[in-house]
Amino acid sequence: MSYSKPKFKEKYGNFINGKFVAPVDGEYFDNTSPVDNSLIAKYPRSKQADVENAVAAANAAKETWGNTSAAARAALLNKVADIIEANLEEFALVETCDNGKPIRETLNADVPLAVDHWRYFAAVIRAEEGSATELDENTLSMNIKEPLGVVAQIIPWNFPLLMLSWKLPPALAAGNCVVLKPAEQTPSTATLLMEKIAEVFPPGVVNVIHGFGPEAGKPLASSSEVDKVAFTGETTTGQLIMQYASKNLNPVTMELGGKSPNIFFNSVMDEDDAFLDKAIEGAVLFAFNQGEVCTCPSRLLVQEDIYDKFMERVIARTEAIVQSNPYNTACMVGAQASNDQFEKILSYIKIGKEEGAKVLTGGEACKLDGELGNGFYVQPTILEGHNKMRVFQEEIFGPVVCVTKFKDEAEALEIANDTLYGLGAGVWTRDAHQLYQIPRAIKAGRVWVNCYHAYPAHAPFGGYKKSGFGRENHLMMMNYYRQTKNMLISY
Ligand code: NAD
Repeated sequence: MSYSKPKFKEKYGNFINGKFVAPVDGEYFDNTSPVDNSLIAKYPRSKQADVENAVAAANAAKETWGNTSAAARAALLNKVADIIEANLEEFALVETCDNGKPIRETLNADVPLAVDHWRYFAAVIRAEEGSATELDENTLSMNIKEPLGVVAQIIPWNFPLLMLSWKLPPALAAGNCVVLKPAEQTPSTATLLMEKIAEVFPPGVVNVIHGFGPEAGKPLASSSEVDKVAFTGETTTGQLIMQYASKNLNPVTMELGGKSPNIFFNSVMDEDDAFLDKAIEGAVLFAFNQGEVCTCPSRLLVQEDIYDKFMERVIARTEAIVQSNPYNTACMVGAQASNDQFEKILSYIKIGKEEGAKVLTGGEACKLDGELGNGFYVQPTILEGHNKMRVFQEEIFGPVVCVTKFKDEAEALEIANDTLYGLGAGVWTRDAHQLYQIPRAIKAGRVWVNCYHAYPAHAPFGGYKKSGFGRENHLMMMNYYRQTKNMLISY
């Protein structure tokens, strides 16, 4: 089944104080689709003045919203979930157009998961109970949770609607007002959502401003009128944002880059077994969904005694991947999100070759027919080398897997942990000892064992080392958006 490019207006506004407004200085930027490099629409190129207006609107709304009952807040979060769900296909199409990922992914994963995150935090606030302890017969100790006030949220382009849905629901559930900046490459689903939910929240509770990092993101993260900065993006951008927020001593959460190992022990190898098929899928499919996933299993570690046979299967499976029109439901690998990203990936493949890595498959841009020929497609690529190479150490964020061998458990762990990052990891084994002890010894916030890439709303997600700090999802998330006040009441 095939869809086609959705329709857009000529230009869109920022969403501030419950209304769409033009940027103060009237400047817009062109947003294009990576599917075929065609124009989508113009979006505001916001600056300091737009940020100030959005932050002021959020501040004006925070007292009332912060005092709204949990039941009322939950009802509105559920309403957003219902609206996204009722328009699932439209959101999926717009996301595919804006980001380039296949419609198969946006329809079946990104948008349904976004819906679930809104519902999850609606449920969390309803299920919470307060705590009170008697110190003695005359004194009560009570812990009260209060919202922080106004939260600045800055998100990347790789899961535009889903990252928004990881960020907004817990902040709103906790009683905060929000100013969110989507990535300049993918402003469309955030705008579509604001159009659909324009009337759901009181004016000022949710505000979205568009624009570039240094022009709109920096004044937002630096604002002395916000009370917290939540960021998802590259590690180097995260370092800048911490500097901006530190001037106001504002708390930050940082969800940053990764270079995740995916480790295959020799016990996966049994030619007659469905488990091996699953392991091959685990090595291939999750690495090649454009590779634009922060936990992409981009370092493949295979035990040396199964290496040749295992890699033969991995290469054959990779070469069978359908790379085609992202609007077609048969497409498995779509376009890279932008020309910059496309160029960066090709330059890393070149760096890998210069470092002496061997190209086992792929290694080139992928030229599709017709108008898709103007889009940004890269062949699923496997580079064989060693872990000290730059392609093994630096985040490429594309469909490029770097593979190396290991001898035993100790060497597998040494290679897996020899990275600046610590976001995700995969372990594949049938050995009961390894099932627990290997994930335990990996320095990463999420380890998948005999599976990869599920992101349920109830499972805490976040990084070790330069992959960041703080967690997303799970009810613990509420504490990243609240203060705890203790009252000692004598009566
Ligand atoms: P990026 O850091 O370039 O941009 C992210 C956001 O920050 C964008 O909205 C951008 O406009 C803004 N920004 C850029 N410079 C800024 C500045 N100086 N001040 C304020 N804001 C600024 O990241 P990206 O290229 O959009 O996204 C890819 C990165 O995101 C990868 O490193 C990936 O691993 C990471 N990521 C991490 C997670 C996670 O949960 N850990 C999830 C998704 C993506």
